[in-house]
Amino acid sequence: MKTIIKISTLFLTIIIFACTNKQSEKAMIHKTELAFPKGDQITNNNFTGTAWLQMLVSNDSIYTTSIGNVTFEPGARTNWHKHPGGQILLVTEGTGYYQEKGKPAQQLHKGDVVKIPPDTEHWHGAAHNNGLTHIAISPNTDKGSVVWLQPVTDEEYNNIK
Ligand code: MN
Repeated sequence: MKTIIKISTLFLTIIIFACTNKQSEKAMIHKTELAFPKGDQITNNNFTGTAWLQMLVSNDSIYTTSIGNVTFEPGARTNWHKHPGGQILLVTEGTGYYQEKGKPAQQLHKGDVVKIPPDTEHWHGAAHNNGLTHIAISPNTDKGSVVWLQPVTDEEYNNIK
């Protein structure tokens, strides 16, 4: 009897070890699966909450385009702002929102593409309970760089339906 208990305990230990090991292996694979780095935490006042930026393409006179990978933690968002040359967002991870002034906020999901017309006041950011990662393509930089405006208030953010 004692031997049976000992053997079953041993098996249980092996199974638990195998499962735990598999989980940490999964976590490691997920980490290396990131297509682009998360970059550095954004410390300026143009964002609310915690967001990260990795520049992928710096603006120059040949391409007149800047491209950045932006990661928002839950609740984080940009201020209201506009792009003189427009902007395109490619959502690569998570869920969030895009809103143009005077219009309802749109939900964003992985795989969404958002075309933001030039000089259109808007903001983008994470959902309340989920983070968001998008690639932000800002073309036509010869028309001017981003114009930052007021923060998206908690009232505005929490009233999203
Ligand atoms: Mn924008």
